[in-house]
Amino acid sequence: MTALHQHADTALSTDLLSRYSGPCPRYTSYPTADRFVPLQEGMRPWDALREIDSLSLYVHIPFCHSLCYFCACNKVITNQYGLASSYLDRVLEEARWYRDRVAAAPVVQLHLGGGTPTFLTDSDLRRLVEGLGEIFDLRRDDTIEYSVEADPRTFRLDTLDTLRELGFNRLSLGIQDFNPQVQRAINRICAPEAVEQITCAARERGFRSISYDLIHGLPHQTVDTLRETIDRVVAMGPDRIALYHYAHLPERFKAQRLINTDAMPAPADKIAMQVGAVEMLGDAGYEFLGMDHFALPGDELARAARAGELRRNFQGYTLMPADALIGLGASAISYSAGGYWQNHHRLKDYVEAIRERGFAGFRGWAMSEDDRLRQYLIMELMCRMRLDHQAVAERAGAPLAEAFAAELERLQPLMTDGLVREEGGDLVITDRGRWFTRNVAAAFDAYLHEPAGERRYSRVL
Ligand code: SF4
Repeated sequence: MTALHQHADTALSTDLLSRYSGPCPRYTSYPTADRFVPLQEGMRPWDALREIDSLSLYVHIPFCHSLCYFCACNKVITNQYGLASSYLDRVLEEARWYRDRVAAAPVVQLHLGGGTPTFLTDSDLRRLVEGLGEIFDLRRDDTIEYSVEADPRTFRLDTLDTLRELGFNRLSLGIQDFNPQVQRAINRICAPEAVEQITCAARERGFRSISYDLIHGLPHQTVDTLRETIDRVVAMGPDRIALYHYAHLPERFKAQRLINTDAMPAPADKIAMQVGAVEMLGDAGYEFLGMDHFALPGDELARAARAGELRRNFQGYTLMPADALIGLGASAISYSAGGYWQNHHRLKDYVEAIRERGFAGFRGWAMSEDDRLRQYLIMELMCRMRLDHQAVAERAGAPLAEAFAAELERLQPLMTDGLVREEGGDLVITDRGRWFTRNVAAAFDAYLHEPAGERRYSRVL
């Protein structure tokens, strides 16, 4: 995959955006989490954990010091540290529930997400990782992805030493926007100098990959303010950038009701922002990986994308596929070959469930053969941008055109628009089509096309 700006074919057009930017799942899983059903008797997807050869771990730390108005995460705003400390006891208790239920497989990924994982003190971060190390096969090996999300507004530089000592080698910083007026409107004031300082200090300590999250479509943002933010970001040179589109769903996310909708950019301005930002990132040498992710050519994710080895999980694009994921903490999702299971969202429900049973899963999904096949197709499209017709025929027991005639029919308009093409029997997403990967994947989502009532997904762009 070459840099985005070198391909005229990748240009985003207003016309395509207006036709394909409607709500669509992000496919961090298939089936998507909104399809999950209450866990019933006999539904035990975790039983397949006994058969795995590799494992990913995710820990959700929901605590934050203050509320960002755009936020759609599962979080708890508090300044009472005692809450976080006792939550950690429950997380370790939950981890112990898995001790006799999981094969002795090496952990190939550990991710701390939130909320704000660095809300935890250094000693509690140590307690968490060392506690997990007593239960799971965590190795001090720098090829393993140990990643952590950090809030630059409250981050303590000394914590970098603790994190490095514990094995963390990847850092993700929530930036969103550097413009002061935008920052005030979303209640997230963050000095660019703090971000720069953390980035330099993390590099000095050997963090291999530093990632920034940005958002476009925020109140008071304009093409020019976003340009200034991206200029500053590019000068700091993060290895990866995620440029998310702000999905304003106030009926679903209470915090967003605090956003002044009069200050929101008009749809045409949002499109212009997206186009401008993408051009700037391309000009700065960032490669487009898919959906909303960019990386410098030397970054492992960009190399994996070029080699067709990208993978996808609940954190987005990733390098190392594991046979299973155990998600610990409120709202965390786990998966195995047997299916998915998700923990209670509310802190109170999670804590009570762990106290009572040591386990907090309340809903999930048992995979059928058809789910597994479609999961394979959707992940291939999201990560490799192609469906190999021979591989599909082997799995489906019939040629692609025969087994998925209705799906290919749904893709006809995207083919006419040059977003997908047929190549030697394979189905290939074109360079331009990479903006609309999830629209292509959606054609293979069996549940999206059944009349199951209204769903609320974020818009594509
Ligand atoms: S955006 Fe991050 S720091 Fe802000 S409230 Fe949400 S989870 Fe907390």
